[in-house]
Order: sequence, then structure tokens, then C-alpha cells
Amino acid sequence: MANEKAAGAPGQAPASREAAHAAAAAIMGEAGNKPDHVANREAPSKDKKFVSMRTFDYNSKPLDRGQIFQFVGLGGDARLRDLKYVVELDANSTLYECPSCGAQFIQMGLRDGHAKSRHSNTRFVPPAPPIREPGETIHSYQNRLDEWAQAAGRMADSHDERRDKMENDIAPLDLSKTQASRS
Ligand SMILES: [Zn+2]
Repeated sequence: MANEKAAGAPGQAPASREAAHAAAAAIMGEAGNKPDHVANREAPSKDKKFVSMRTFDYNSKPLDRGQIFQFVGLGGDARLRDLKYVVELDANSTLYECPSCGAQFIQMGLRDGHAKSRHSNTRFVPPAPPIREPGETIHSYQNRLDEWAQAAGRMADSHDERRDKMENDIAPLDLSKTQASRS
């Protein structure tokens, strides 16, 4: 009972019913001006750096996983961010630069993977073709060559499929955001 503070002081009950209403209106009004879904739809800043979480094309340029980039102000920018194609770069991150094109990456391994797939002529190296064995008939050799060619083709196809699947596993898109943006 002793040490009672004045009504309306911080942490104390408002002095009157009218004051309580005013306080509630002020709080609700403030919150009502900035609902979360509006904040999420703001276009991402063109000044901040982002990290690509997937392999995709942005502004007609290929981006690889882990690559640093900045938005240029396209219509779909907020969508890329909301879907988790990209996340904002932590300012303390160490960056690794590609010696061929200067692109920066958040991990050395991702930089090396980029360099290998973008800057070497052999994006995918199939196994060496079989060599005709001494005394082997041309038909037998042709069969083995056909089998090799088919297997190499499948491996090349599955190379891209594996990459897509791996990226889906480690950096899934947040598709719930597309539902929300339609409502
Ligand atoms: Zn490069």
C-alpha cells in the first residue's frame, strides 16, 4: 500500500476509463498502421547485398547458389525474397571471389563449384568411351559404344536433376508466401 505511484504513471493503471481508451487506441492504431503482411511486401533494398540460395537467372544473368548480388528493382524482387530464393547477406560474412568473373560467394566450395560449372568447357565430363578390344567384332564394339552413349546421356541429364533435387532439399522455396500474396 505504501509507495503508491500516481495513477497513469508507467506500469500503473490509467487514471480513468477515458485515458484507458485513449491508450488502447494509440497502441492499436500504431500496430494497425504496420501489419506484418504489408511490411513483407515492401520491395527489398537495392543497396543491400543478398545471397542466392538457388541456381536461377536474375535480370537475364545466371546466379549460382551462394552468390552475392544486389536487386536492381524488378517487379519480382519482393517475390524472390519472400520465396527464399535469396536471403540478406550477413555483413560479417567472409566472401570468396571467382578469379574468372569476379562474382563473390559466401563459401569457398560454392565459389569453386561456380567456377567449375561456369568457366570450364566441360560442365559435365562423361566417362571415357570404350576402346575396341583386339579381335572384337565391329557389331560387338558398336553395341558397347551405344550402351556407353546412352549411359553418358543419362548421367548428363541426371546431373542437372541431382542439382535441382539437392537445392530443393537444402534450400526449399517458401511457397506459403505465394498463397499469402494472392489473398
Ligand atoms: Zn565466375
